[in-house]
Amino acid sequence: MRVGLGYDVHKLVRGRRLTLGGVEIPHHKGLLGHSDADVLIHALCDALLGAAGLGDIGSHFPDSQPEYKNIYSIRLLRRTCEMVRAKGLDLINIDATIIAQEPKMAPFIPAMRREISRAIDFDEARINIKATTTEGLGPIGKGEGMGAMCVVMVNEKD
Ligand code: MG
Repeated sequence: MRVGLGYDVHKLVRGRRLTLGGVEIPHHKGLLGHSDADVLIHALCDALLGAAGLGDIGSHFPDSQPEYKNIYSIRLLRRTCEMVRAKGLDLINIDATIIAQEPKMAPFIPAMRREISRAIDFDEARINIKATTTEGLGPIGKGEGMGAMCVVMVNEKD
C-alpha cells in the first residue's frame, strides 16, 4: 500500500466564481488561479500523484499552458486518476479537509463527493470531505484565501 498527501492554497478575489470539489458555490468572492482554482481538487490531484510517485500537479498541468486557462479542475482530476491507474494502482480511500472561513461548506459536501465519485468512477462511501475554519486567524481566517489538504491511500495490484 502507498499513501499520498496533497496541500493547496488559493487567493480569494471578487469577480471570480467559487468552485470547490467540482461544485459551484454561491459566494461574493471566488478563487484566483490559472485554472478554476479548485483548491480541493488540486490537493486531491497532488495526493494521487504523490501516492503514485508521479511528482506534482504543476509538472503535469503547468499554469504556463493556455490549454489549462480556466479549466474545470475535475478534468485534471480525471486525467490524474488515469495516470495513477495506468501505474497499476487502485484507490482505497480519499480523505480531505477544506480550510475556509466562509461560507458554510456542509450543505455542499454531498454534491462534492458525488462529483468526485463520478469523475473518477470511485465509490462515494470511500470519499470523505471535511471543512474547518481557522477561527478567524491568519489570511484564511480574514477571507483572503482558502486551502485544502488531502490524503489518499492506494494499493499496488500484483
Ligand atoms: Mg492550485
